Amino acid sequence: MKDIFCKIIDGEIPSTRVYEDDDVLAILDISQITRGHTLVMPKQHYDSLLSCPKEILTKVMMIAQRIGQAEVSILGAKGVNYLANCGEAAGQTVPHFHVHVIPRYVAGEGGFRLEMKSQDTSKMNLPMLAKEIGDALK
Ligand code: AMP
Repeated sequence: MKDIFCKIIDGEIPSTRVYEDDDVLAILDISQITRGHTLVMPKQHYDSLLSCPKEILTKVMMIAQRIGQAEVSILGAKGVNYLANCGEAAGQTVPHFHVHVIPRYVAGEGGFRLEMKSQDTSKMNLPMLAKEIGDALK
């Protein structure tokens, strides 16, 4: 079954389009957690960033960068958050790869707060952890 973004891409569901080319679509997020909150996605279906081929990932991120630049220069944003939730455990609700581009106007404004709580690392072997992840890249 098609996900909601596939239906938007195919024109079966309306959206507010910001940008479109052969491979990439950018739309305004329906929830607008800040003014100009945009979603950038590949037109071809990939479940998340993790399964997206690098050529398409590059195209998506290049458009996401340009949209962030426009949010600063045209909308007057003072900063931009980029967010790609990958998998339900990470809070992804639409299983079609997309990058949130979220303009920020005032530090600490309502509607969006990214809170990173540190864990107690005293019982973690950080060098071993780094090696485990790093070895997977070889
Ligand atoms: P995520 O939780 O990272 O999967 O983000 C999914 C986002 O899609 C949410 O911010 C929703 O507000 C947004 N969304 C869901 N349905 C639509 C829609 N029809 N048009 C635009 N944005 C949507």
